[in-house]
Amino acid sequence: MKDSLKYALWIKTEAKRLGFNSIGISKAVFLEDEAPRMESYLQSGYQGNMAYLENHFDKRLDPTKLVEGAKSVISLSWNYFSEDVQPKDAPKLSRYAYGKDYHVVLKEKLFTLLAFIQERIGEVQGRVFTDSAPVMERAWAVRSGLGWIGKNGLLILPQQGSYFFLSEIILDLDLEPDNPIGSYCGNCRRCIDACPTQAITEARVLNASRCISYLTIELKDTIPAEFHSKLSERMFGCDICQEVCPWNRFSIIHNTSAFMPDKQLPEMKADDWYELTAESFKNLFKESPVQRAGFSKLKDTLQILKKNVSIY
Ligand code: SF4
Ligand code: SF4
Repeated sequence: MKDSLKYALWIKTEAKRLGFNSIGISKAVFLEDEAPRMESYLQSGYQGNMAYLENHFDKRLDPTKLVEGAKSVISLSWNYFSEDVQPKDAPKLSRYAYGKDYHVVLKEKLFTLLAFIQERIGEVQGRVFTDSAPVMERAWAVRSGLGWIGKNGLLILPQQGSYFFLSEIILDLDLEPDNPIGSYCGNCRRCIDACPTQAITEARVLNASRCISYLTIELKDTIPAEFHSKLSERMFGCDICQEVCPWNRFSIIHNTSAFMPDKQLPEMKADDWYELTAESFKNLFKESPVQRAGFSKLKDTLQILKKNVSIY
């Protein structure tokens, strides 16, 4: 067996043992097809105030600018699917935010995998990424055969759905690449039709500046009035275009203790949220991705949701 195949098999076996669901490998080449797409996306202004998307354009497309002599990109997915644990009338958190911050949890796993590679194979240089640097995660995941980009812009894994965190390891090591698997949305357009803010302008094109995830997490200013009645009780993130996706009927509830919901979450009713104090925010979301929005932002959104309840 050639070394590149043998190493790929070792790495995949170890990644599975660590708890990753899917692992695929692609050649660390310049992302030629993505360059014009990325350019026209940025020109459209759909990125809203996420200026960081405009930075490091060359690094996003060329992995050798992130790791000198890069030869392979390993794409990995980690399941975070959970049932909706919140009471019916409560303002909703996106499911990925029920537990600890995935950046921290997954980085640890990735460093363990990188250490395994270096110990088993020898002098290998690499870097790990999970939504933390200019890496086009979905493009790499498609190339490495993990899944396809659905019309909602998310990566769909066959027989598993889309409730996954994505990560990558870029290495200066030759590994046997996998093949892309094709796209299986067919004629479905449930995500496009279900989006309350019409943020999916066409298949696979998301106007992030209209997306509830952006409005409730990234947008620093107050949410514009035109969206107030369309927030669909979402206070942090939005899962609607995943909830309607037929591929998510294959989702399996995860068993990662770090991503289990805080004990208080299923107890908290609408009024508890509206009365949230800075102190209780700190206790509830100590290690949570909700910190990205912060207390004032969450409180502002909750005020809008409270007003919606009294109006509608
Ligand atoms: S996350 Fe929500 S607002 Fe954003 S595209 Fe999906 S359904 Fe629309
Ligand atoms: S809802 Fe339908 S169109 Fe949208 S991502 Fe899922 S399968 Fe594709």
